[in-house]
Amino acid sequence: METIQTEFLIIGAGYAGIGAATQLQMAGKNFLVVEARDRIGGRVWSKTLPNNTTIDLGAQWIGPDQKLMWEQALKHRVKTFDTYDEGKNILYYNKKMTYYKGTIPKIDPFSLISLGLSLDKINKWCKKIPLDKPWEAPDAKKLDAITVQNWMNQHIRFPKARFLFKVGVETVFACPPSEISMLQALFYAHSGEDFEKLISIQNGAQQTRFEKGSQHLLQCMAQPFQDKILLDNPVNAIEQSEKGVKVYTKKSIITANKVIITVPPALVEKISFLQSLPANRVQLQQRIPMGSAMKSFAVYKKPFWREKGFSGQVVSDLNPVQVTFDCSPADASCGIILSFIEAENERFMITLSEEKRKELVLQRLSQYFGKEALEPDYYLDKSWAEETWSGGCYAGNPTPGTLTSFGEYLRTPCGNIHWAGTETAMKGNGYMEGALESGYRAAKEVLSN
Ligand SMILES: Cc1cc2nc3c(=O)[nH]c(=O)nc-3n(C[C@H](O)[C@H](O)[C@H](O)COP(=O)(O)OP(=O)(O)OC[C@H]3O[C@@H](n4cnc5c(N)ncnc54)[C@H](O)[C@@H]3O)c2cc1C
Repeated sequence: METIQTEFLIIGAGYAGIGAATQLQMAGKNFLVVEARDRIGGRVWSKTLPNNTTIDLGAQWIGPDQKLMWEQALKHRVKTFDTYDEGKNILYYNKKMTYYKGTIPKIDPFSLISLGLSLDKINKWCKKIPLDKPWEAPDAKKLDAITVQNWMNQHIRFPKARFLFKVGVETVFACPPSEISMLQALFYAHSGEDFEKLISIQNGAQQTRFEKGSQHLLQCMAQPFQDKILLDNPVNAIEQSEKGVKVYTKKSIITANKVIITVPPALVEKISFLQSLPANRVQLQQRIPMGSAMKSFAVYKKPFWREKGFSGQVVSDLNPVQVTFDCSPADASCGIILSFIEAENERFMITLSEEKRKELVLQRLSQYFGKEALEPDYYLDKSWAEETWSGGCYAGNPTPGTLTSFGEYLRTPCGNIHWAGTETAMKGNGYMEGALESGYRAAKEVLSN
């Protein structure tokens, strides 16, 4: 087995890892990036369809507040475009279809007031959660002891309002509200500015897409140091000594002065540490499970729903397709409906064959947009729970009690091992923005000591 020596080793070639590498490259340092998959990107993965359209199986949108992502997009002059957001959105609830524009569906006044008050409360409340130390927020212990579901049960009385809030939560976290700590939810909302921004297109996290996909930007960033990225080379074990760190991968043994680990906390558990990590760090890792989400794409000759005055956006109480978006390319040379299948729905869908999943999705789309939806040119879906090197998405969600008991170990280095990855970010946590922030921060750490 080959033995390699380097000053710095980055584990993982997603936005966090490549972000860290850009900083080490600028500083003129000797470094390597080691990646388990045969591609860079991690939770970012673009695919070209037979009709030459690029889709993002993983992350696809950036919002106006994702400053670091915009900085890179402008630097590399990648083309972006606005998410299609014209025409009527559909709310399908209790076997009735109603139409609306904007983020919040038109619902009866009582439900609307209840939903509006809840959103307003969360948007203001989240600002009180310190981004660097959410565990020091006022009432942190109390908030970390309840789930979002507990809070909804107490504060959102009207079933329609509660349903819409639940869909919003599942769309953001990819898990049922019963699995997320209220403190984590408030921190996450603040990290992305506020909850409304996280669920919005206009001025929100779903506003902008990359013409060539999100992976293309990452490839542009990595271009100057491509020869330093070792693909298809999972790290199996790590040994630390006074002198540095020895990393055992599938193909090589790499010794480095310092290592930056960018893999999601739950996946760090797959690596053997020959000298155990501090117990509190290990316990932290055990308590940040990945969310459950699947993206499904139905590709048509044209976006036929636009001609009928629809935006392509649906919020529905019909399983398994509760949320859709128009995901057609910028020039609308074909039409694509993207369905998000999250939480319990994804857990159910991955037990079915692809043929059955396709049938269920298309049947729902035809209920929303008409029978043309039954005959796409292509159908494909991607379950991220089934990805060995991600284990789920969109991010890891600390369970109740985790932030207040173990949160301080998220970024604390363990000897010469430093931690990055979107789960460690202060701003844009869970998003590509957070991944970049974390990579830059970890690079600064290793360069400064
Ligand atoms: C379906 C989906 C939709 C999303 N939508 C959006 C969106 O629209 N906008 C947005 O901003 N974000 C979105 N996200 C979240 C976004 O993708 C992530 O926040 C971001 O990409 C995380 O980057 P990262 O570098 O922190 O982690 P990752 O991308 O997970 O990178 C970690 C890397 O480590 C590698 N790795 C794991 N274990 C090992 C090992 N033992 N040895 C070596 N390498 C290892 C992995 O293969 C991976 O490449 C979405 C994610 C998914 C999956």
